[in-house]
Formats: sequence, C-alpha cells, structure tokens
Amino acid sequence: MSPDDGSPKADFLAGSDIGFSFKDIVDRVTDIVVVTKAEPLAPPGPVIVYVNEAFTRISDYTANEMMGGNPRRLQAEATDAVTKRRIRSALEAKQPVRATLLNRSKDGRSYWVELNIVPLRDCTGRVTHFAAIERDITEQKRLEDELAEQARSDPLTGLFNRRAFFEMAEAEASRLRRHGGVAALLLLDIDHFKSINDEYGHPVGDRALRALAQHCRQSLRAHDAIGRIGGEEFAVLLPTMSLAGAAEVAERLRLGISRLALPANDGTFGFTVSIGIAPLSISDGGFAACLSAADGALYRAKREGRNRIAAADGQLVVGGPA
Ligand code: GH3
Ligand code: MG
Ligand code: MG
Repeated sequence: MSPDDGSPKADFLAGSDIGFSFKDIVDRVTDIVVVTKAEPLAPPGPVIVYVNEAFTRISDYTANEMMGGNPRRLQAEATDAVTKRRIRSALEAKQPVRATLLNRSKDGRSYWVELNIVPLRDCTGRVTHFAAIERDITEQKRLEDELAEQARSDPLTGLFNRRAFFEMAEAEASRLRRHGGVAALLLLDIDHFKSINDEYGHPVGDRALRALAQHCRQSLRAHDAIGRIGGEEFAVLLPTMSLAGAAEVAERLRLGISRLALPANDGTFGFTVSIGIAPLSISDGGFAACLSAADGALYRAKREGRNRIAAADGQLVVGGPA
C-alpha cells in the first residue's frame, strides 16, 4: 500500500515518514471489517465501500464483487428477522448496535458472526458511514448447540431426557389450554425388567432399552415426542391425538415391542411393556394432572397382568398377550 493512497492517517502517523496507513492494518486484522455508506438505508441496502481480507476469506466473495453491493447479499433464509429489524432500527437512528447473525457465503455455506456496528462521523459530526466489525463464532455456536442438545437428551437412547420431555409436554398442555384441541400421553414401563438384568446382565438390559427407543422412533410420527423419563420408563406425547387414536398407537407399540428379538447367550430373548394412556387436556390441572392420570392407568395395566394397556378414563383396557 503506497503512503499516498488517500487513506486517512492517524494522529500518531502525522508528520512521520512511516509508509503505512490504518487501512494496511485493518486489511489484515483477523476480525471481519465491512464499511458501508450511511445513506441510503432503504432497499437494496447500504452501499459497501470497503471489506477487509478476513471478510473475503470467510464469505468467499472478492472485494471487487462486494464493492458497491450491499450486506443483505450475505443474509441466509434462516437469518433471524427480529435481529435484522433491530439492526435496521439502530442504523436508522445512527446508533451503534451489537448482534449475533447468521450469514451465508458465496457458495451457500452458513456461518455465524458476532457483529458490532459503529457509526463513523465526518469532521462536522455527521454520520457518513458505518463500520461493521465482526467475529466468526460458527464453531462456538456449534458447541453451544451441541451442549444444549446434550442437556436435553438421554445419553443411552438419544431420546429426550425427563426434564426436556416434561418441559415440552408442559408447553403443549398450555398451548391446548389457550387454543383448544387434543393430545395424548403414553407412559410405557418394561415388564419385569429387573429379571432381564438379572438373567443376562446390565449391558444386555441397556441394549433392550436402546432397542425399545429405536422401535418407538421408527413407529411414531416425526412430531411425536419420545422421552426416557426413568430407568425403564418411557413417555410419548402424541399431539392432535384423541384417546381412542392414542389407544391404537399404544397397541401397535405394545405388539411391536413384544415381537422384538434381542441376541443374548447364543439365543434371543424378548420382553413386553405395560402402557398407561391419558388425554393431555384431561382437566385444568395441565400436564401434572395428565401425568398422574397416565401413571394411575399404567399401575392398573401392571396390576391386571402386564403386557397390556389401560386408559385414564377407566373404560379402555386393551392388549394382553399377543
Ligand atoms: P415391573 O414389571 O413391575 O415394572 O417390574 P420391573 O422389574 O420392570 O421394575 P422394577 O422397578 O422392579 O425394576 C426396574 C429395573 O430397571 C431395576 C433397575 O436395575 C433397572 N434399570 C434402571 N435403569 C437401568 C439402566 O439404565 N440400565 C439397565 N440395564 N437397567 C436399568
Ligand atoms: Mg418395569
Ligand atoms: Mg418402572
């Protein structure tokens, strides 16, 4: 970079014979720097007058491709609309703004940036440009998402854990209270699971738990939620499902599970489940009332011989040895 390229000189450079400008430094910093004109903000958006090398590295656009264009080109379908509006309002008010934003590179790769936009003023104090200083936080975001996912899932089966399942079911119960509709809860408990552990050992017991989880995943709809809420106790939330519909689903699960054959001791073994069903909209008591009703039904299914299904309304008892 030649010393007379018109770039502004910092005070500490004034009068010296140093041959570099601030631009030489900003070109090479590891943070992304994008400078736009302050006006006009209206679509297609503020005009880009400068991008540094870190920007071209992450976005795959060359400086020439971006010059005269606008930063909206970088926004992905999934870029958060609320964040975009917040940034736009700040820019309209010529205020600094910080945000976390999803961007998209030239070849369609998504990346997350932590963005700090500052207004730049001319010598009269008028805001003429904005500088966006951005840091790539894609890896940090990925780790955060992974941790959040781990905090919600059961490590043995990959299903939702008790807390995540209960949160989801509570949310669905309040949604039903506000907007009406139906949903059902199934509680599944493996019959005589202790004897499986006793006979084949704990690792084989674990394999049975994973096989049950896998079977439920394969048999249910994508929007049904499945959780492992205790050692050998599972719960299924069936949105939009009536009690009668839930009984059919439960029966299909019960039969399917009773037909699983797992290898052990040079042979195979099987197991059964008992299932309690309750409607999520059972009363104003919400999810807690539904859970207690399903638990009561499960207890009844156990008492009446296991490998069967009982519903909270006391009417419906289906299943029994296949
Ligand atoms: P019931 O038909 O009345 O449900 O009898 P059960 O034997 O299934 O019920 P019980 O509550 O007596 O025993 C549950 C067993 O589940 C005891 C415990 O060792 C076992 N268990 C709990 N968590 C795990 C686990 O993560 N892995 C394995 N292999 N076993 C587990
Ligand atoms: Mg059991
Ligand atoms: Mg149990």
